[in-house]
Amino acid sequence: MPDNAQQFASDNYSGICPEAWAAMAEANQGHQRAYGDDEWTARAADHFRRLFETDCEVFFAFNGTAANSLALASLCQSYHSVICSETAHVETDECGAPEFFSNGSKLLLARTENGKLTPAAIREVALKRQDIHYPKPRVVTLTQATEVGTVYRPEEVRAISQTCKELGLNLHMDGARFSNACASLGCSPAELTWKAGVDVLCFGGTKNGMAVGEAILFFNKALAEDFDYRCKQAGQLASKMRYLSAPWVGILQDDAWLRYAGHANRCAQLLAAQVEDVPGVSLMFPVEANGVFLQLSEPALAALTARGWRFYTFIGAGGARFMCSWDTDEARVRQLAADIREVMSA
Ligand SMILES: *Cc1c(COP(=O)(O)O)cnc(C)c1O
Repeated sequence: MPDNAQQFASDNYSGICPEAWAAMAEANQGHQRAYGDDEWTARAADHFRRLFETDCEVFFAFNGTAANSLALASLCQSYHSVICSETAHVETDECGAPEFFSNGSKLLLARTENGKLTPAAIREVALKRQDIHYPKPRVVTLTQATEVGTVYRPEEVRAISQTCKELGLNLHMDGARFSNACASLGCSPAELTWKAGVDVLCFGGTKNGMAVGEAILFFNKALAEDFDYRCKQAGQLASKMRYLSAPWVGILQDDAWLRYAGHANRCAQLLAAQVEDVPGVSLMFPVEANGVFLQLSEPALAALTARGWRFYTFIGAGGARFMCSWDTDEARVRQLAADIREVMSA
């Protein structure tokens, strides 16, 4: 297969969607004020406020690691701790950045059900120790959609935020795939965030068809104090900010963000349906967003790799992750499914 054939390893293997690309080209005319004082950045922030039906504070960062880490750092002091799931990106894939940017706030791991935190799991961790020798819990972070392709329903987020309120915790949402969650649930962005008690959302653009960029939305505006300084100090203030913000205008203005997420989700459903009856194949998690986690045999995984397929196997022996993107071709999904069928019967 050609080097640039569509793959399912990650949704960041895909390129830039036409809407984001066109907005960047449109922004690439003439001069504009720098460091976010430009009209594109103002327009993007206004789009977010309209989309979320609230007057939130909006910031832009280059990637998700920075967005999550800086957001978490703004929610706690160095002696505080952050409760997250054992599979959370902040724990497994950010190289200690949340601890680094918060000057040492410790991540406390909670058990999950299908990748999701529950009020009981949060309570267990938060109440385990309350003495001076242990870092004081101050934040819960949950990932929507989760790292294993499941989604939190609005009532689940609400139950978690209720627990947070009782325990004096702020609630952060890693929304690297927030679009996929919205498309999957058919809920409004507001219902899944501030209306359900989320204080801060990191909204992913990269995996939704942009080149780079995540937006950080503070629904609890008091928590955004000096966040601009935090971004600047961390090297996250783009001087030509219009190129980070214009693509957001491009994907938000006509709902491309939601259409593409829906397409990726449907491709994941298609893949799951196509391999459902293959002997020896089982789904590791319910398919609720754009990821399909399959349990296959080790020889089958090796055979798929030999056929040129790329996928991640970080979920344990025989487990493979297949992610669909905004531009995933259905014919390619069928081709992958047919190859899975073949290698499993070899
Ligand atoms: C991709 C991803 C991020 C962002 O990662 P970066 O590589 O830093 O942009 C954050 N959270 C989750 C769950 C992700 O999958």
